[in-house]
Amino acid sequence: MPAKNKAVFLDRDGVLNQEMGDYVRRLEDFHILDNFEALKTLQDRGYLLLVATNQGGLAKGWYTEEELTKMHSLLKQTYHEHGIEITDFFYCPHHPLFTGDCDCRKPKPGLLLQGIAKYDIDPSKSYFIGDRERDVEAGTAAGVKGILIDSDQPISTVLDQIK
Ligand SMILES: [Mg+2]
Ligand SMILES: [Zn+2]
Repeated sequence: MPAKNKAVFLDRDGVLNQEMGDYVRRLEDFHILDNFEALKTLQDRGYLLLVATNQGGLAKGWYTEEELTKMHSLLKQTYHEHGIEITDFFYCPHHPLFTGDCDCRKPKPGLLLQGIAKYDIDPSKSYFIGDRERDVEAGTAAGVKGILIDSDQPISTVLDQIK
């Protein structure tokens, strides 16, 4: 059976919420960018929306999984109020200097591979929007087309690259 779903993977910081220069540690520094129309458009085109984010700040002890969950709940809830469903959040809690190597920290493709397996996604019909070269590399390694944007660049500007 061929995979039945397609997805747009989204990096978090600099794509969904404002890039703050480093891991966002506090809920009050978590500012959601206005990408509501663009994400609704992608959802209407039949894409699942999945977040894939490096959260090495966890390994560094800068914030806890509980605080991270609050940020992701806020994101999910805010989008929900705009008619957009984020299907899942995949994050890498590791950092090479603190926890050693892992398979999920981008540019490794682990987070995307988790999403692809969990939601029966066809990578050849899927995309990864990120603001770092490592996002594109992770996408390519997972067989997903990477789309590089500038930090905080509106997603509406790349909609024409997504079928
Ligand atoms: Mg980013
Ligand atoms: Zn990891």
